[in-house]
Amino acid sequence: MTTIATTNPATGEVEKTFDALTDEEVDRRIARAADTFASYRNTPLERRAEWMNAAADILDREADQIGAMLTTEMGKTLKAAGAEAQKCAKACRFYAEHAAGFLADRRPADAEDVGARDAYVRYQPLGPVLAVMPWNFPLWQVIRFAAPGLMAGNVGLLKHSSNVPQTALFLEDLFRRAGFPEGAFQTLLIGSSEVERVLRDPRVKAATLTGSEPAGRSVASIAGDEIKPTVLELGGSDPFVVMPSADIEAAARTAAESRCLNNGQSCISAKRFIVDIGCADEFERLFVEHMRAKKVGDPMDDSTDVGPLVSEEGRAEAEELVADAVGKGAAVLCGGERPDGSGWFYPPTVVSGVTPEMRMYYEEVFAPVASVFRVRGVSEAVEVANATGFGLGSNAWTRDDAERERFVRELDAGQVFINGMVTSYPQLPFGGVKRSGYGRELSAEGMHAFCNAKTVWAG
Ligand code: NDP
Repeated sequence: MTTIATTNPATGEVEKTFDALTDEEVDRRIARAADTFASYRNTPLERRAEWMNAAADILDREADQIGAMLTTEMGKTLKAAGAEAQKCAKACRFYAEHAAGFLADRRPADAEDVGARDAYVRYQPLGPVLAVMPWNFPLWQVIRFAAPGLMAGNVGLLKHSSNVPQTALFLEDLFRRAGFPEGAFQTLLIGSSEVERVLRDPRVKAATLTGSEPAGRSVASIAGDEIKPTVLELGGSDPFVVMPSADIEAAARTAAESRCLNNGQSCISAKRFIVDIGCADEFERLFVEHMRAKKVGDPMDDSTDVGPLVSEEGRAEAEELVADAVGKGAAVLCGGERPDGSGWFYPPTVVSGVTPEMRMYYEEVFAPVASVFRVRGVSEAVEVANATGFGLGSNAWTRDDAERERFVRELDAGQVFINGMVTSYPQLPFGGVKRSGYGRELSAEGMHAFCNAKTVWAG
């Protein structure tokens, strides 16, 4: 039986526990989702846009309180949590503004060749969509599904991580307060063992999951058995390649920022730093300086850069990965020791000399732990960058046009950022290749992922 509770990672204290919904309550909510969809799908787009903009206003207005709730539930710094609320408001406004364009009937280039008086694609909603979501960006991961989903006319059922129940309930309340009909977006407080029953319910038409590989595999195989579409956004172990022509100081600063993003618990954090031998000494020195300079501490304090990890198990896992690498010959250049005291803190850590025998070479480290690799030239950099099962984001730092073109072409990832840090924007598609998942979120692609692209041929 899963415990659904808020446990403050900065103290280790359980602050509030919640009862899981009974099977009958879950059924009632699915029924309400299906009933609501029957009418909601016909609401005018302008009305949905008004509600979506109202949700954005609430997120902006209440960013401080929302931020405190996120920090208490999962430990990100208060400033990062407030910024997350504002980023969500922007995404809501983006879809309120652009949904009409993304959903407009699309006429093919050579329409006369299909022998019809008129032929076009009409984007229609699918119905209730189950969203299985993680705790690391507990608002953003949900909004980036909910904003396009609701604007397209779908309704949402959220199964959030069991450690962020207050955020999960806030999200249901957010859309209700913004004016969306009761049943357009509902939270199911259930454990992961209940997901299968919901997913197999014929009234539920599709699923989206962000989280670990085992969770993704389970949801995808059940959905596959039911022939229901899914979008999966799983882990990442993003490469961050630095070539001698780059601005090394900017690369080192950004590297530390990326690795420590969200206390080191982001799927698109750079995790493997692959540095050409021609600039490796300089980069490593500056990178270690920037990692050391990060202030670890109370996430509610404005001057803190890195708060605690989400859980005791999360920290133990990071410690095991570092110990495994050190045991097999890697060197720790900074960090690597948990501080005394309560809370699940772990310092920014840089490990060099990581080899394929070490777990860290292949596994995602969900903590502010970086591994540095030295390579000779672009070909070896690409080879090491691609030597992972993941393919979510990638970063490459170079001011050489030919090198840039090779990274764009050869890095196996859903996104490549040149001289910058992988981030998600509502304007651009987001998702991975290989074991990082499939399908795309955000932009028009994210909206169309849960639409029936219906071909209309009219003679
Ligand atoms: P999980 O994948 O276990 O949790 C994410 C969501 O999936 C939660 O809502 C969880 O519910 C649910 N879930 C878990 N197992 C199943 C299942 N078998 N069937 C259906 N739903 C399931 O992530 P964790 O929080 O345990 O984190 C573990 C690791 O996953 C991290 O260390 C990291 O590597 C990766 N991860 C990646 C994320 C990303 O952004 N790509 C986000 C979070 C984690 P419940 O909480 O009730 O178990």
